[in-house]
This record gives sequence, C-alpha cells and structure tokens, in this order.
Amino acid sequence: MSTSAPLTWIELNKSHLEKNIASLTKLASGRKLAVSVKANAYGHGLEKIVGLLVNFSEVDYVTVHSVEEAVRCRKAGWSRKIMMVGPLELSSADAVLEYELEPVITTIEVLQHLGKAADRAQVRIKTHLKLETGTNRQGITEAELSAFAAIYGEHPYLERPYGAATHFANIEDTTEHEYAEFQLDRFRSIVQEMARLGIEPEICHTACSAALILFEETRFDLVRPGISMYGYWSSKETYLSYKLAGGDNDLFEPVLSWKTRITQIKEIPTDSFVGYGCTYRTTCPTRLAILPIGYSDGYDRRLSNIAHVLINSRRAPVRGRVCMNLIMVDITDIDGVALNQVATLIGRDGQESITANQIAQWAETINYETLARLNPLISRRVVP
Ligand SMILES: *Cc1c(COP(=O)(O)O)cnc(C)c1O
Repeated sequence: MSTSAPLTWIELNKSHLEKNIASLTKLASGRKLAVSVKANAYGHGLEKIVGLLVNFSEVDYVTVHSVEEAVRCRKAGWSRKIMMVGPLELSSADAVLEYELEPVITTIEVLQHLGKAADRAQVRIKTHLKLETGTNRQGITEAELSAFAAIYGEHPYLERPYGAATHFANIEDTTEHEYAEFQLDRFRSIVQEMARLGIEPEICHTACSAALILFEETRFDLVRPGISMYGYWSSKETYLSYKLAGGDNDLFEPVLSWKTRITQIKEIPTDSFVGYGCTYRTTCPTRLAILPIGYSDGYDRRLSNIAHVLINSRRAPVRGRVCMNLIMVDITDIDGVALNQVATLIGRDGQESITANQIAQWAETINYETLARLNPLISRRVVP
C-alpha cells in the first residue's frame, strides 16, 4: 500500500451526517429508527458510516441487504440491532443466530429452516414478515399467511413475528400518492388478518425516506430511511410534495464529496480531437487538465461531453469520452490552475457545487445509482 496521498478520495462530512440524523430523529418522533447501510452505505463506505453511526444512540437499527453486509457491520463495531431486508439463503440460518440478525422473511422455506435452526440452538430469533401490498417484489400474500402462521406454531424458539413490513412502489416518482394510500390500506388489512391467525406483529413498519417525510400515517412503530440520512431527497417529486405541503427545505445536507487531483496539464491547438471516438474537437487553442478517475471509479460514461467538474471554484467541462481511468476537462478559461490541484467531482467548491442529483440527471439515472456505484476501493475519509 502506498502511504502517499491518494489520487482520488471520498470525504464524509460528519456534521452533515449529524444534521441529517437529527432531522430524521425529529421526523421519527419517538419511533424506532432503522437506517439503511446497504450497497456499501449507498456508496459512502459501510465501515466508515457504521463507525460514525455507533456514536448516535438515537439510531436503533442498521438495515442491510445481505448477511455479508451484516457481518461487516458487526466487525465495524455495530452492536445494536440489524435488520436484513434482502433474500436469505438457507445456508445462512446459523449466521442469523451468530450475528443476531433480524431477517425480513419473504418465503416459507426460509422461515421453516430458521425455525429448525432456532429450536436446535435453543436461541430465539426475531423475524419480520414482508407483506405483499402492490410492489410485487418480495412480499407474502394474504393467502399464504396461514401457512406462515403454522410454521410459527411449530417452532417454540421462533417467536411470533416481531415485525410486519411492506415497501411502497410509487412514492418517490410522483406527487400523486393514491397508489401509496392503496398499499397502506392493504397493509393494514393484512396485519388484521395476521392478528386473526394468532401471529399479530409487535411492530409495523413501511416508511422509506419519502414516506417518512411526507406521510405521518406510514411511520407506524419504526421507520426505515436510507437516502435522506446521506443528505439527499429521494426525488424531485418528493421534494416538491414536501414543499407543497409547506415544509421548510433545510432538512438534509449531502454527506459525501468526491475529489481528485490534476495529474497533467496540456495545451492543444484548434481543431484537435479529444479522447476515444474523436467525439470532441477544439474550436480554439485549449488547455486540458487530465484527471485520474473514470467509469471504473463510478464516473458514468454517459457523462462524456456533458458533465463538468469544479476547479478553483469554477466549472471545467468534461471534453471527449469518459475513459476507464481518466477524464479530460477544459481549463482554458480558468486562471491559475496548477498540477496536483484538487478537482471536485461531487461536492462544493466556493460558490459552486455539484450534487449527486446533478450527476444523475446528466447520466440519465437517479441519485441512488450515482452514489451506490462509487467504487468501494476509493479511499474514504471522515472530515469534521
Ligand atoms: C432501501 C430500502 C429502504 C430505504 O429507502 P430510501 O428511499 O433510501 O429511504 C427502506 N426499506 C426497504 C425495504 C429498502 O430496501
């Protein structure tokens, strides 16, 4: 490992994380708070984020997708609860016991298997049932419930389900929320059916960030925000809905900045092509800065000839195609740029800033994907 400063790095702003968690705690108003650290903590770096979260006693759970992520959370020092929302393999039953995970159950086979493992070890397992209300992804239908109730009856160490959960299909992408209301009605009626079958859950939970922020009736006993903890709104529509309802806009600040350093500067004449495919040609004598990041780092190739980066608090346009490990940016009109100087890919530089929303818009995707695809190998550092 090199001990010199890396050519590219991600900074995690601790005070912004603090602010976001304070906003979420206020929105949760007394309910349990489960924050999502799946997808390498939305690209921020799971170990670094968990290392910060241990200091926030208001966070009750971290939510993960896989057993592997759960184990990483434990190794990073997380001793509170872990909810696992992704599919559980039968072979992972022992890990559920060992790492004290609370899996969200989506199939009868998994529940059966966990029941046997719990009885064998004589250790109680807390489970949550994912209920199908209209997303048609992982949920259990009302018709299947009695089979689940039977399994709970057969295994003394499988407590009756601790939680009942569902997830909204259409809450971020619209300012019209009839489908979310329909799902909420379905959820309430299936939970009633659970009670009739003797498997009434202790806690109910449905709220991702957008639901938590917009609809109090989705909050139930526990809320499961993800993107908002990292300082981003789920979508423009979520932000608009919030503003239309009279909300004040200062809830969240982006935690992550992504930076690199200029490794080369060059002057090229008028009519020169730049990069693969000759997709850009200069119209004047041009000064280019070469930056040592590319699509393998998570700088999407669709940003070619579209995006800009920040250098000296000014916008430097990306010229030509994004390469695997390099981009070229135009600094002709930016004074005083020197080798080794910092370029900001995501984040603020003086009056200018580039958000993951902006990058996502340029790359025709969503902020979630822009963040989640940041290469885990990029070094992360916490800044105050
Ligand atoms: C990822 C996830 C969340 C968090 O969603 P955000 O939109 O990031 O707040 C909540 N619940 C489930 C089941 C998830 O998979």
